[in-house]
Amino acid sequence: MAYDFDLFVIGGGSGGIAAARRSTEYGVKVGLAEAGRLGGTCVNRGCVPKKLMVYASHFPEQFKAAKGYGWTVGETSFDWPTLMTAVNNETTRLNGIYQTMLDKSGVKLFRHFAQFIDDHTLQVGEETITAGKILIAVGGRPVRPEIPGIEFTITSDDIFHLPQQPQRIAIVGGGYIGSEFASILNGLGCQVTQIVRSNAILRGFDDGMRQEIQTAMANAGVKVMTECQPVAFEKTKDGVDVTITTATGAQHVLVDAVSLAATGRIPNIDKLGLDKTAVSIENGAIAVDDYNRTSVPHIFAVGDVTDRINLTPVAIKEGRIFADREFGQKPGVMNYDAVPTAVFTTPEMGTVGLTEQEAKDQFGDTDIQTYRSRFRPMYYTLPGIEAKTLMKLVVQKSTDRVLGAHMVGDHAAEIIQGVAIAVKMGATKAEFDATVAIHPSSAEEFVTMR
Ligand code: NDP
Repeated sequence: MAYDFDLFVIGGGSGGIAAARRSTEYGVKVGLAEAGRLGGTCVNRGCVPKKLMVYASHFPEQFKAAKGYGWTVGETSFDWPTLMTAVNNETTRLNGIYQTMLDKSGVKLFRHFAQFIDDHTLQVGEETITAGKILIAVGGRPVRPEIPGIEFTITSDDIFHLPQQPQRIAIVGGGYIGSEFASILNGLGCQVTQIVRSNAILRGFDDGMRQEIQTAMANAGVKVMTECQPVAFEKTKDGVDVTITTATGAQHVLVDAVSLAATGRIPNIDKLGLDKTAVSIENGAIAVDDYNRTSVPHIFAVGDVTDRINLTPVAIKEGRIFADREFGQKPGVMNYDAVPTAVFTTPEMGTVGLTEQEAKDQFGDTDIQTYRSRFRPMYYTLPGIEAKTLMKLVVQKSTDRVLGAHMVGDHAAEIIQGVAIAVKMGATKAEFDATVAIHPSSAEEFVTMR
């Protein structure tokens, strides 16, 4: 049967656009439906605008440091609407770039939502479209816990559209988003209370790194409340009153008319009409095999909608591998080992491979050796700022292989990206040590740890 398209992609975010563009390189006819802004969460509500805000939040520290280097910094002030306008202009510019890239590659773009009519047929706006293969790349959205008064809270999606800077904000959640926004807003001068139900922020990361970040955030002024749960949000004339249960009883925090619920994200599958197909759902996400194939052989899914490793570069890689394999006859499968990641808190964390605990659980305590270095980077010596960098290597004794590399401190993301190549290749501690250091740098510690 002849279909309208060889491939139809639902969702114009990182994974969908990468798969669509790569597929056209193999001469196939590709359509893509995106009802919202092109670029998905990363460009519009995630990585990009967030990172721009991270940069903005670092200036007060840089003004302070400048004095130590002989600079006189005049009176400084911060204007929230100016930053928001600049950030939103940049995301609009990127939307345009995505549009141009899709046009150039010959992908036919439909500015509508797509819904399944059957396994091969989609309703896209007013049109009925058939496709030989369909790729679902619709991403996820924030979940809001069911707490009385939750309607008085916003999510990270909304923060970029706040007309005024909140002076006092409560952030619920200790994950990537909660911790990053706690740091950003604190840096921009807000009074931040972060409410975390576990015993520390950033569950799942190396324990030593989590503690280092949490302590540094607290020292910088974030009030981090652990083992606490918000139980009510009440709107009062002075703001939103957040009731929090703690080990010692209930406490109240009064914030401006915003508090950020950063309590995780869920796949965006409800409106896809998946009930018209035989696509299986597991734990609210589209179930896929190693080839990103769903339970229907010609329907595939990549990115956050599969709820595995929810990171932009993972979705992009999954999308390109899918296209290479399905249309380019290049067999390939995504390898999820040693996926590096960064958390853009202040201080920032970069990490790849196993945490110390994961390594011990996998290989036994006696087969694991850790190397740790904690120091004040040279940059902070002249200004007399007590900022620290922490680095850790997790090594398997019996093979000498570096199983994990973790860093908290300036430029951790940039540094770990390079280290990740070595970890992914299976480098040994001896090979790290045989690498000549770059001096003076912080990164050199990774090849000199004893
Ligand atoms: P996470 O799953 O990372 O964190 C959710 C947080 O909310 C956890 O601290 C969790 O606590 C807490 N929580 C969940 N439910 C409740 C509740 N009912 N009451 C109180 N606290 C609750 O999700 P995020 O939204 O922060 O991030 C989503 C994904 O986005 C991440 O997994 C990541 O992959 C991606 N992301 C990546 C970034 C990057 O690469 N830098 C930046 C931002 C997002 P507990 O730990 O106890 O479960």
